[in-house]
Amino acid sequence: MDSKQYDLIIIGGGIIGLSTAMQLKRRAPRWRVAVVEKEAELARHQTGHNSGVIHSGIYYRPGSHKANFCAGGARLLTRFCDENEIEYQRCGKTIVATSQDEIPRLQTLYERGVANGVEGLEMIGPERLKEVEPHAFGVQALWSPNTGIIDYVQVAKAYASRFEQSGGEIFTNAPVQRIARTSAGLEVETPGGALQAKHLINCAGLYADRVAQMLGEKTDVQIIPFRGEYYTLKPESQHLVKGLIYPVPDPRFPFLGVHFTRHLNGPVEAGPNAVMALKREGYRKRDVDLGESWETITYSGFWRMSRKHWKTGLGEMHRSYSKGVFVHDLQKLVPEIREKDLGTGGAGVRAQAVARNGALLDDFSIIEGRDAIHVLNAPSPGATSSLAIGDHIVSLAAKNFGLSN
Ligand SMILES: Cc1cc2nc3c(=O)[nH]c(=O)nc-3n(C[C@H](O)[C@H](O)[C@H](O)COP(=O)(O)OP(=O)(O)OC[C@H]3O[C@@H](n4cnc5c(N)ncnc54)[C@H](O)[C@@H]3O)c2cc1C
Repeated sequence: MDSKQYDLIIIGGGIIGLSTAMQLKRRAPRWRVAVVEKEAELARHQTGHNSGVIHSGIYYRPGSHKANFCAGGARLLTRFCDENEIEYQRCGKTIVATSQDEIPRLQTLYERGVANGVEGLEMIGPERLKEVEPHAFGVQALWSPNTGIIDYVQVAKAYASRFEQSGGEIFTNAPVQRIARTSAGLEVETPGGALQAKHLINCAGLYADRVAQMLGEKTDVQIIPFRGEYYTLKPESQHLVKGLIYPVPDPRFPFLGVHFTRHLNGPVEAGPNAVMALKREGYRKRDVDLGESWETITYSGFWRMSRKHWKTGLGEMHRSYSKGVFVHDLQKLVPEIREKDLGTGGAGVRAQAVARNGALLDDFSIIEGRDAIHVLNAPSPGATSSLAIGDHIVSLAAKNFGLSN
């Protein structure tokens, strides 16, 4: 790798780094911009291990970044897909209350969705639910006909190819190991050589806190990895799910609860749960990184979080090791499901920022430094919102770095 000079370097070739890169080049065509990615391919981590849902914007507190970016982001995303011939389907989603005491929370979700501008939302009773999802059980449900499914790797690669077509450069196999401030700006070191830049945007996902530290940023959060494990419905059982079936989530926890997700080419997944991983990119139960685990257990925020959520955490671990418990939870939504219907599935790892006071950051967190912007928390619906988040980051870059074309 030559020691080249760039106006701006983006660290991380996931969907958010690539959306930002594409939109930045559009806004400032003459800027020399590079994306630096540690893996041999783009979109290998959260972007390549998610549920593939185009969320409509129901869950999020009005006024939050998630509320602002999700519904609008979904519209931008589907328009981008229409223009670039990327397949997606609006298969619709039901959030199902399985007992009377969940109805007030479901009603709150309906109101939030309406406040967030989600179109077509409807509260439906058991009979209508049977028409939409014949095998689901619920005393009431929230029907979101516009929620969709997509392959986010394909989307991320399309962003990358637009970026390259407009003159941007992408370096893969280039883990950033150190960043130094020099008189000329920033020197970004990778094993293949150093790159010089005036500005930097940190979209490093599971390692975003580490990259921020390389620049001496005091972030007051640490990323704790939460693995989400899936089962796959066997082909003969896929008829049990038509679209997307979700439970009413626990409002104290930023995850949505195990659900059923249909994928574009037919497979149906059940999951993901949320268990703490012992390695940031630990996709298997046996994946352990002693250094990273040590970093977690010596973080005060981890212990404060554990004090608040130990019961939920233990429940998640129990479900992770017991297929029977997993199935029991799924049966609340689709009573016909049996253990024999589930085959093995994959897993994803969420980069969850945890504050020093133990709070799991619920909203997207994007912070502005002197010469850098850091995306410190971009959980779900980050992929749905990728164009809206990228647009927001480009606006921050214009304000802070004086983008010029
Ligand atoms: C299990 C799961 C299910 C989800 N489901 C959905 C869903 O259905 N819908 C939705 O909208 N969102 C969903 N999400 C969230 C969504 O996947 C994320 O919000 C999104 O992918 C975040 O993208 P990113 O670019 O920030 O991170 P990533 O995709 O993780 O990209 C970060 C990149 O940075 C690179 N990197 C890290 N460190 C370095 C370094 N030092 N040097 C160079 N490169 C580095 C990594 O290799 C990686 O490629 C889900 C997430 C998970 C984990």
